[in-house]
Amino acid sequence: MSTLPPPADERIVIENAAIATVDAADNEYTRGHVVIAGNRIESVGEGPAPQWLQGVVRRINAEGHLVTPGLVNTHHHFYQWITRGLAQDNILFDWLVALYPTWARIDDKLVHAAAQGSAAALLKSGCTTASDHHYVFPQGGGDILGAEIEAVAELGMRFTALRGSMDRSKKDGGLPPDHAVEKTEDILIASEAAVDRYHDASFDSMLQIAIAPCSPFSVSTELMREAAVLARRKGVRLHTHGSETAEEEQFCKELFGMGPTDYFESTGWLGEDVWMAHCVHMNDSDIAKFAETGTGVAHCPSSNARLAAGIARVPDMLRAGVPVGLGVDGTASNESGELGTELRNALLINRLHGYPDALTGRKALRLGTMGGARVLGRQNEIGSIEVGKLADLALWKVDGIMHSSIADPVAALTLGALPPLALLLVNGRPVVENGNLTTVNEDRIAKAAADAARELAARA
Ligand SMILES: [Zn+2]
Repeated sequence: MSTLPPPADERIVIENAAIATVDAADNEYTRGHVVIAGNRIESVGEGPAPQWLQGVVRRINAEGHLVTPGLVNTHHHFYQWITRGLAQDNILFDWLVALYPTWARIDDKLVHAAAQGSAAALLKSGCTTASDHHYVFPQGGGDILGAEIEAVAELGMRFTALRGSMDRSKKDGGLPPDHAVEKTEDILIASEAAVDRYHDASFDSMLQIAIAPCSPFSVSTELMREAAVLARRKGVRLHTHGSETAEEEQFCKELFGMGPTDYFESTGWLGEDVWMAHCVHMNDSDIAKFAETGTGVAHCPSSNARLAAGIARVPDMLRAGVPVGLGVDGTASNESGELGTELRNALLINRLHGYPDALTGRKALRLGTMGGARVLGRQNEIGSIEVGKLADLALWKVDGIMHSSIADPVAALTLGALPPLALLLVNGRPVVENGNLTTVNEDRIAKAAADAARELAARA
């Protein structure tokens, strides 16, 4: 597939659709149109598209469909696609200790196969922009970052690759085995090289890089501090795991004499260029610090449930003004790997806080679109259907057997079963049609992933 955007004078017209724009006023249209010119949204509104349009290469009668912005995934570990279904009944620390030895045997070839599986699951569930936090770089593993970037580009998804890292192993009081970590200095050199080689800061960028040491229990304090300095010198974002479990909080108190949020603050890790995965165990003061500094959160409801980590205080975060997006997390702790279903999971899990409007369907959709865009620093480019923004759109079929009797199309998406995905546009190009990837052969991806999973297991 060409990586160039479609010519600006080529238009796609979508008409007769329900549209949830997720713009600042939450505008919705019951029978509206979207016009896409090249890779940008040219027009959106109620009623048919203007009839005088030139260069229309495709006109879609979207009767019975809902158009939303493409979903944005803010936390993932693509390589875990080939270690799904393992350690099924563990909490985080035991699950990590069980899986580190397997993960430490990956290489660029296996990561390529895993990344295509993960990216395919995201695209097929309505996700147009993903980030991937890769932090396992075994010696002799080849060009792992390059392999995942190539894998995603082939599928046509907008991407933020997070150059992750671990340098605190067991011998330094950390959780990973000694052979699974890198040297601090090597990590900083490789992270800077990744930014120089790949990071594209332009408006319609398909590839950005962020710097992402893994977690307080697998990363030295020196690396946390130096990574923050490096990211700010290079003008890229910072990401890590934070406040995921009660055990992590205990670990931080014992090792650093403070909880995770205070530790992040002490290492330069609060700020509007930072987002953290999970943030389940946050007190009022932690939430206030995130809000004051504009630090973002990747809420991962399925993974938090799978690992019995707890329920993040998303309604309190939103009230305080914390930027929050959604993440599927790695598929070793969320075997589905679908982002579309996380809208419903986020809504339902946050209602367990005990009040019915904790998260509405529309707020869940906002988390999965504009919330994610803001967390990735791309709120001016993606996340809502507005004139001038990039044409990353999902067209959901809501008139089939599973949805036709649901009164509200947004409720069909956020409370019902995940609707069939009729069309997914990334940068103005169709990457999913009638539920299937258009860019690659799905059977080939499935087979390559199964082969890679078997090969990794055999390396034990
Ligand atoms: Zn994670």
